[in-house]
Amino acid sequence: MTKTYKIAALKGDGIGPEVTEATIKVLEAVEAKSTFKLNFLYGEAGLHCIAQYGTNLPKETLELIRQTDACLKGPMTTPEEAGAPVSVAVTLRKIFNLYANVRPCKTFPNVEALKPNLDFVVVRENTEGLYSGAESLLAPGVGVALRIITHDASLKIADYAFKLASQRRKHLTYVHKGNILRITDGIFKDAVKEAQKNYPDVTVDDMHVDAATMQLIKKPEFYDVIVTTNLFGDILSDEAAQVTGSLGLAAGANIGEKYGMFEPVHGSAPKYTGMNRVNPIATIMAGSMMLDYLGEKAAAAKIENAVIAVLKEGKVRTADLGGKDTTSAMADAIVAKLKA
Ligand code: NAD
Repeated sequence: MTKTYKIAALKGDGIGPEVTEATIKVLEAVEAKSTFKLNFLYGEAGLHCIAQYGTNLPKETLELIRQTDACLKGPMTTPEEAGAPVSVAVTLRKIFNLYANVRPCKTFPNVEALKPNLDFVVVRENTEGLYSGAESLLAPGVGVALRIITHDASLKIADYAFKLASQRRKHLTYVHKGNILRITDGIFKDAVKEAQKNYPDVTVDDMHVDAATMQLIKKPEFYDVIVTTNLFGDILSDEAAQVTGSLGLAAGANIGEKYGMFEPVHGSAPKYTGMNRVNPIATIMAGSMMLDYLGEKAAAAKIENAVIAVLKEGKVRTADLGGKDTTSAMADAIVAKLKA
């Protein structure tokens, strides 16, 4: 019997619709040559919803997501005024307990990177830390934000990262600021050491976040799997995206025990909205990660191989890769490889 996956598709704001539509074209091209079906259910979320719904995550969208097997999410613009609706991505990660944010950092052929042949993964705790949303004004000009770190969430992310490292080059680096954040990062460090007991074959390194960002520039090949708390992981993964090529190529997965949400690492880049200019590959690779998560490993690999083939050929290049081609030209080139 043909397997059908229900996919929540949230196009988002800014460049979101362009990169999400490009990805859906690619997913439909791979679906046409596979035995499974993809049933896209389109939901509204993001800044553009606030005027109509009074929120950036309408309850209709949440209900739609609950019916699906996975979510393909375009980037969304988050208003920055105090009291405005909080980030949709952060809200969805919490509601669905998508505790692992997994961001592969890999060089592509023919794409300028700081060093050749890099291949590592940033695994970021995705539900707490400085993204807990517990922020308040104590007095005019005096604010506090709570950095919530729990043993349970730290152990879960550490175990996820060790499992991944044990399937790769068996090297894990845990990144923290335990010299300053002694209690919160003390809890994180203890959880990593507890998880380590189950993975004796994995070599472990311990690094302060400031040293880790420096090392990412100086010797990125040192890393295999990096595991860290929420904000440190967000910063390190954008840096890693540029070290390995471009933010326009970097994909991320938000994985929980029962659900997965897939999105580019980048945001909604509002200044490029509607210009058909940005690179859709980050979102297309997120689509590939989604198929892998659903168990469709061959189809996921087909997308990755098509992306690699187009980049290797070097005929179609978006502005971030030093070219002049459009978002849709890049998507069409990848689709053409999948149809060949
Ligand atoms: P951004 O990632 O949107 O853009 C930073 C810069 O990166 C862009 O100006 C552009 O030069 C480059 N860039 C981004 N995507 C690219 C692509 N596909 N191809 C080529 N170049 C690309 O970051 P920002 O400016 O900090 O944030 C803009 C908005 O996005 C904010 O409202 C922020 O809250 C939101 N955001 C959302 C998410 C999400 O939905 N998960 C993630 C990050 C930022």
